[in-house]
Amino acid sequence: MIDLSIVIPSYNEEDNIEPLYNRLNNVLQSITDKYEIIFVNDGSKDKTVNKIEMLCNVDAKVKLVDFSRNFGHEMANTAGINYASGDAVIIMDADLQDPPEVIKDMYCKYLDGYDLVYAKRSKREKETFIKRATSKLFYRFLRYFSNIEIPFDTGDYRLMSRNVVNEFNRLKEHNRFFRGLTHWIGFKSTCVEFDRLPRNTGKTNYDFAKLVRLAVDAVISFSYKPLKIFNIIGLSIALFSFFNIVYWIVFKITTKRPVEGWTSMIIVILFCSGIIMMQISIIGEYIARTYEEVKNRPLFIVNKTIGINDNNFSIKEKEAESIKKD
Ligand code: UDP
Ligand code: MG
Repeated sequence: MIDLSIVIPSYNEEDNIEPLYNRLNNVLQSITDKYEIIFVNDGSKDKTVNKIEMLCNVDAKVKLVDFSRNFGHEMANTAGINYASGDAVIIMDADLQDPPEVIKDMYCKYLDGYDLVYAKRSKREKETFIKRATSKLFYRFLRYFSNIEIPFDTGDYRLMSRNVVNEFNRLKEHNRFFRGLTHWIGFKSTCVEFDRLPRNTGKTNYDFAKLVRLAVDAVISFSYKPLKIFNIIGLSIALFSFFNIVYWIVFKITTKRPVEGWTSMIIVILFCSGIIMMQISIIGEYIARTYEEVKNRPLFIVNKTIGINDNNFSIKEKEAESIKKD
C-alpha cells in the first residue's frame, strides 16, 4: 500500500534528476515512508533515462516509465498517473521550478479532506517579461473561451486523491489539457500558494509556438465558443448585407444611375472570404481532432518500466477488460 505517488514527466532533464530526487527524499520522508517516485522519461535525447535507472538501482521507491519516443508533456503526465498506485498522486515538473517543499502543504490539505490541491504561483521570480506576459494572456484567453473555471496562475503542479485519479484514468481523449481536466472532473478542491522559481538547469521546452498550441488545445477540447463566435459574425454580416441589398435596389430604381463602387465591392469580397476561410479552418480544427479521437490509437507507447508492480494501471485495466469479456 502506497500513501503518496510523485509523478515527474521528464524530457531532457539529465542535470535535474539527482538534485530533484535529493530534495524530494527529504520532504517525503518527513511525510510518510510509503511513497513512490515515478519518473516518466518522455523520449529524452540526453542521459535522463540513465540517471533515472541509476536511482532505481539504489532506491526501490524510484520507478521508471520509459516511452518509446517523445509523446509530449501531457502524455507523460497521463502515463505517470496511470501507473501510480498511491492513495494520493502529485504531478510535478522535473526542473525544480515546483519546489518539493510545497508537497507538505498540499498533503495537509489532502488530509483535511480535499480531493484536488493545486499549487498557485504567488511570485514568478526571474521569469522573462515575455514569459509572464504570454502566460497572463494565456489564462485570460482560457478563462474567456473554456467552459470550466481554470484558476489563474496555476500550472500542472497539483495533488489528486484516488477519487480524482480513478476518474482521470477513465478519460481516453488524445487532445488533453491536464490542468483543465482535473477541474472538469470536479470534487472538492483548494489551493496552496508558492513562489515559482526559475528553472534549475536546462531550458524550457515550451516556446511561443508550443504555448499557442496548448492554448488552442485547451480551448477546443473544452468549448464550442470559437464556432459560436462565427455564428454571430456570420449573422451580423448577413443582416448588414440584407440592408445593403434593399438600399442598392431602392437606389437603382429611384436614381436610375449605373451603380459605381468597385472599391467597396472588392473590400466586401475580401473581407467575407477572409471570414469564411477563418471559419473553415476552425471547423477543420474540430474535425481534425475528431479524426484523431476516432482512430483510437493508444495515448502513448512504453518501451520499458522499472519497479512498476502488479498494482499498476495497465494490469488493472487488462483485468477489467478480461472481466468484461467473461
Ligand atoms: N516535458 C515532457 N515532455 C515534453 C516537454 C516537457 O515530459 O515534450 C516535461 C519537462 O521535462 C518538465 C515539464 O514537462 O518536467 C515542464 O516542461 P518545461 O519546464 O519545459 O515547461 P515550463 O516550465 O517552461 O512551462
Ligand atoms: Mg519548467
